[in-house]
Amino acid sequence: MSALEQLIEALRRLPGIGQKSAQRMAYHLLQHDRAGAQQLAQALQHASAVVGHCQRCHTFSEHALCPICSNAARDARLLCVVESPADQAAMERTGSYAGYYFVLQGRLSPLDGVRPQDIGVRELLERVSDGVVDEVILATSFTAEGEATAHVLAELLKNRGLRSTRLARGVPVGSELEYVDLGTIAHALVDRRAT
Ligand SMILES: [Zn+2]
Repeated sequence: MSALEQLIEALRRLPGIGQKSAQRMAYHLLQHDRAGAQQLAQALQHASAVVGHCQRCHTFSEHALCPICSNAARDARLLCVVESPADQAAMERTGSYAGYYFVLQGRLSPLDGVRPQDIGVRELLERVSDGVVDEVILATSFTAEGEATAHVLAELLKNRGLRSTRLARGVPVGSELEYVDLGTIAHALVDRRAT
């Protein structure tokens, strides 16, 4: 494979990028923006080398604890469970949530073989057993799989005597949190209901 073909193949790994878009990006970088190509290569190399996961909430972090988990001023009684760092960022941008987070590695999908142990459910159950968390807010997506994940988590939490709530309806069915507008998320948070 030529260097150009390798570049196109690498770009195709990105979500939503097919052969044509990958080609366009590769041609653009090589034809018009060599400096940008170098910058992109360096940023990718640096980020993939230094960005790990927060030990406590499992979001992306360059340190053992992310800035949110390191912030002692937040409300330790609230723990919000989301599917991805992108969803966590969306929730955080609403500015209406003051508790901590737990970031799952996706959502349950029995058909694709994604089981509780694959998304960090065991770590979540350890995290909520600190004796301080009083309410677990299930903010998984409003897709069928996100709903099923919330249901499974609610049952597991109930068995451990822990209270959980779910974001209110109003978030469009089928949505990933990261694509929902912030006002809607903020309302869904305020109007959350017991599971
Ligand atoms: Zn954290």
